Amino acid sequence: MLKGKNAVVTGSTSGIGLGTAKELAKAGCNVVLNSFTDNEDDHALAAEIEKTYGVTARYIQADMSKGEACVRLIEEATKALGSVDILVNNAGIQFVSPIEEFPPEKWDAILAINLSSSFHTIRTALPGMRKAGWGRIVNIVSAHGLTASPFKSAYVSAKHGMMGLTKTVALETAEVDITCNAICPGYVMTPLVEAQIPEQMKVHNMSREDVIREVMLDRQPSKEFATVEEIGGTAVFLCSPPARQITGTSISVDGGWTAL
Ligand code: NAD
Repeated sequence: MLKGKNAVVTGSTSGIGLGTAKELAKAGCNVVLNSFTDNEDDHALAAEIEKTYGVTARYIQADMSKGEACVRLIEEATKALGSVDILVNNAGIQFVSPIEEFPPEKWDAILAINLSSSFHTIRTALPGMRKAGWGRIVNIVSAHGLTASPFKSAYVSAKHGMMGLTKTVALETAEVDITCNAICPGYVMTPLVEAQIPEQMKVHNMSREDVIREVMLDRQPSKEFATVEEIGGTAVFLCSPPARQITGTSISVDGGWTAL
């Protein structure tokens, strides 16, 4: 369905980013994977996608906490694939702490990676999309872009910021065949979520099982984690012809969390 389109997925060596890159490749898209590391495993992931889905896949190292690296990612991806038609802004980190003890450097890092990186990638990718007359921007936001939880001040702020960025870019591109939308997952079991469990166990003084059931899935009425394939499949839908008039909005994939 997306044969011949070229996609960049930021932060795509694990979790939702990797799952989304695979779903895009399954739909026929060439993909650029990205993270801040540069080792054999990173390049092997791209090679595996090429082999499995018969598309072109590349790995490009770029630290999404740095504006100039975000720009370089889009420039190198354009050189490698010929264009960037689909941009999935996915890179994100988390830190959990009461605001009084929240380290300012963690705030800065979360705002840089979870919000500002998308400003840099979008503004670099848009001229090429405008020239081609087609583009799809998918921002992986969160239920925390629509609602808040305690102890996640930086994450919730950055994700709410992403919702504003999504709407603004959609308005600025509304008269071209370019759309910009957000996907708002609830809890998806990925390394990012796995890493929060010990901290949440400490904060709530609970066992691992209780944190999963009573804290994480407490607000997810389905009582199931979403899968990376479900998030990736939603991204593919947003890039597909029936989604042409969907822009400046979000799709929640949260088992009913934000319906509560
Ligand atoms: P993850 O930790 O599994 O993957 C994050 C990816 O980003 C990794 O590939 C990592 O290498 C990369 N990354 C981290 N810092 C980077 C940097 N400075 N530069 C480039 N790449 C960097 O996380 P995930 O759970 O797959 O989360 C992906 C996105 O989905 C994030 O934006 C997150 O906020 C969002 N999200 C996740 C969940 C969930 O439950 N897992 C829910 C809602 C939203």
